[in-house]
Amino acid sequence: MPAPLLRDIKNSILHLFYPRLCEGCSKPLVTGEEILCLGCSMELPETNYHLIEDNEAAMRFAGRMPYNKVTSYAYFTHEGLLQHLLHRLKYQDKKDVGLYLGRRLGARLRDSGWADGIDMIVPVPLHKAKEANRGYNQSRLIAQGISEMLGIPVESSVLCRVRDTASQTNKTRSERISNMSEAFMITDKAQVRGKHILLCDDVLTTGATLEACALALMEEESTKISVATIGIAVS
Ligand SMILES: [Zn+2]
Repeated sequence: MPAPLLRDIKNSILHLFYPRLCEGCSKPLVTGEEILCLGCSMELPETNYHLIEDNEAAMRFAGRMPYNKVTSYAYFTHEGLLQHLLHRLKYQDKKDVGLYLGRRLGARLRDSGWADGIDMIVPVPLHKAKEANRGYNQSRLIAQGISEMLGIPVESSVLCRVRDTASQTNKTRSERISNMSEAFMITDKAQVRGKHILLCDDVLTTGATLEACALALMEEESTKISVATIGIAVS
C-alpha cells in the first residue's frame, strides 16, 4: 500500500476516536477541513487590504515611519471569531491556529504577488522571559505559516526584545511610544543590511510595537520594511 494512502487511513481511524473539532462552532471537522469548518472559515471577515495600497492598516503608520507595504488579513472585533482564535493561540497553547492563520494570509499574499521582492520574514519578538513562560512566540508561528506559502525564510533571530513592554494598558499614546523605543535591537546587522523585511505580528492596534521594531531594523541603512498582521483591531 502506498505510504500516503496508509497515512490517510491512519488519520481517519485516529479522527474516528478523537474527532477534531471546529475552533469556531465545535462541530467535528470533516476531511479537508483544518481548524475551522467550511461555514466558520467563510465567516472570517477578510479585509482584502493586500489589494488596496492606502488601506486602513497602512494609514496607521503613515507619517510615522517609512514603509513599503502594509496589510492586515482580517478585522479583529470584540468577541469576534478572530479574537477567539487569537486567544486560543496566545493563551491556550493552540499553536496550530497560528500556522493556520499564517497560511491563510500567506496564500493571499502569494496569489496577488504582494510579497514579490521580500527577502525574509521577521516576527515581532517576545521578551526572553515571556517566551520562556508561554513556551513559544505566537508571531513566529504566524510567520512560519506565511513562509510555507511564500517560500520566503523566517529569520526570527535578527531582532531581539531587550525590554519587556507588556503592560502598556494604562499609558497614553505618547507614553507608550517612548516606552517602546529602544525596546528592540538588531542582533545581526550584516544579515538585514539592504534587505526587504516583512515584519509580522498577530494584531495591529496602535502600531507602536511594529513601529519600534521597524525603526530598530531601519537603523541599518537601505533596509526596507513591509508589515503584515493577521488582525486589525477595529471598534
Ligand atoms: Zn465551525
